[in-house]
Amino acid sequence: ADSHKTPRDQIGPRQVRDAAFTWVRPQPVESPQLLAISPAAMRDLGITGGDEKTQDFVDTVAGNKLHGWDEAKQEGGYPWAQCYGGFQFGQWAGQLGDGRAISLFETTNPETGVRYELQLKGAGLTPYSRFADGKAVLRSSIREFVVSEALHALGIPSTRALSLTLLPGVKVRRETVEPGAIVARFAHSWLRIGNFDLLRARGDRDLIRKSATYVAEDVLGGWEALPGRLDDPDQAVNSPAPGRGVKVDKVEGPDESAENRFTRLYREIVRRNALTVAKWQAYGFMNGVLNTDNTSLFGLSIDFGPFAFMDNFDPAYTPNHDDYMLRYSYRNQPSIIWWNLVRLGESFGELIGAGARVDDEKFIAEGVKEEEADDVIKRAEKVITQVGEEYKAVFLAEYKRLMLARLGLETYVDSDFDDMFSSLLDTMEALELDFNLFFRRLSSVKIAHLDTQEAREVKAAVFFYQDGVTGSGGEEEGRKRVGEWLGKWRQRVLDDWGNGTMVSEEQDRERREAMKKVNPNFIPRGWILDEIIKRVEKDDEREVLDRVMHMALHPFEESWAGRTFDGVEYKGDKEEETRW
Ligand code: AMP
Ligand code: MG
Ligand code: MG
Repeated sequence: ADSHKTPRDQIGPRQVRDAAFTWVRPQPVESPQLLAISPAAMRDLGITGGDEKTQDFVDTVAGNKLHGWDEAKQEGGYPWAQCYGGFQFGQWAGQLGDGRAISLFETTNPETGVRYELQLKGAGLTPYSRFADGKAVLRSSIREFVVSEALHALGIPSTRALSLTLLPGVKVRRETVEPGAIVARFAHSWLRIGNFDLLRARGDRDLIRKSATYVAEDVLGGWEALPGRLDDPDQAVNSPAPGRGVKVDKVEGPDESAENRFTRLYREIVRRNALTVAKWQAYGFMNGVLNTDNTSLFGLSIDFGPFAFMDNFDPAYTPNHDDYMLRYSYRNQPSIIWWNLVRLGESFGELIGAGARVDDEKFIAEGVKEEEADDVIKRAEKVITQVGEEYKAVFLAEYKRLMLARLGLETYVDSDFDDMFSSLLDTMEALELDFNLFFRRLSSVKIAHLDTQEAREVKAAVFFYQDGVTGSGGEEEGRKRVGEWLGKWRQRVLDDWGNGTMVSEEQDRERREAMKKVNPNFIPRGWILDEIIKRVEKDDEREVLDRVMHMALHPFEESWAGRTFDGVEYKGDKEEETRW
């Protein structure tokens, strides 16, 4: 709607009314330099490898050339920036919007049929830039470029990154003046909870209904693709089964009259986010700024600012230095995402509270009447509470499934939560053990080498207390504690893979191989990203980006040197890959 009120290309921050987006084009830039691409992204978008060497590709990902827009005729597809709001650190922040992101077009991979929206981050001012400049620096762009692809390769839903482009001619003022950069990124959808927050704040019932319908029909695959009724045994919360013998707790469904299609839409968005947060927790990923504008309706990891992967396990850790309250710390992520989802439930309030009347034309036209408001609110509140139970159930089931896989166990037993997960995490926290390294190292441990407590303590010393691996060193107490946990774990592996007293060499090898497929040998830790940023800024070491992208895209490999991935050779050496 903004398009027919404002001439195209009228840039400059402003309050936008009655609109969900604004047409705006990227600012043209001089001599952009393509620094790196993601081969996996090229493949997923259906772009031929090698195409990145064309001027057309560079001009597109730098924002200089618009595909589908006819400059002469002034017609065709035109880029746009989204309008959304958000709760930042729990406070309503008003209109935010894409302040430095501009979407170019949607594209469907002809082979997979999957549709993506391609977007440029750091392409200049939009109506939503507020007091800022619409630009991005190399530092933050490198971090987003790498982590987007790393998360995806770990099996964690995420927005993706296609390319990283340096803009030598664009000066960005931060602490110092730095060159600008653009990440071309793509996602199934860039919609967030913040899109609905803003509509709700405006009181725009009509646009909430239209947008929710759009999300169901156009983004999430249609109403039929949404989860079925909770009280229907065939469609219950247990489907899809999470696997590894993990049961999803049974959740009471909303009343018959309340479970209309918008409730099912809400449940789908909630379930997707429950699955994604469970994956963050299982892999130690922290977003750092989980405001509602950074919570995806598609359940993607989205908006990479001060994110981090857990090093030494510390559940109170937050990578966000301004987060004094630890609101967005590791352990708070599941409850904060739910807090955000409750805001979405409130935006959907009239729709999910209307029950069967959601399709009643009079209701659609007039909305909730004064005398029925209490009823609608009560029903919406009840739906949100019940969906909250579903959120917990889905989160827990997925978390258990992943932790079980990371520990090389096949079938969940009830004692695993305390004896395997909690006791391991407590041990890691107390001994300052590295979270992801622990699982990778455990993936090489042979059960035959854990027969006695003495042997287990030796393993603990060798595997988990090598130089640089832990903060607190190889104290006897620590070795003993890890050894005891290894004893319990050994028994679980024997029960699971063997006959309770022994496991064959073949089975144990299979178990180790399965573990290596879920426990990464590479994750983009903060210090690795810092090192890469330094080397790229020096500008003679840019190929380091290709190497780190290879590792990020193939995180479970034992080694990368001398190998070819996606038709591209990995040109790094052993020393570097071992260090990272
Ligand atoms: P974030 O903290 O990344 O979620 O950003 C919050 C809001 O600030 C969003 O509307 C962003 O688009 C906007 N924003 C952040 N950095 C910039 C920038 N350099 N230029 C314009 N807008 C920005
Ligand atoms: Mg954001
Ligand atoms: Mg951001």
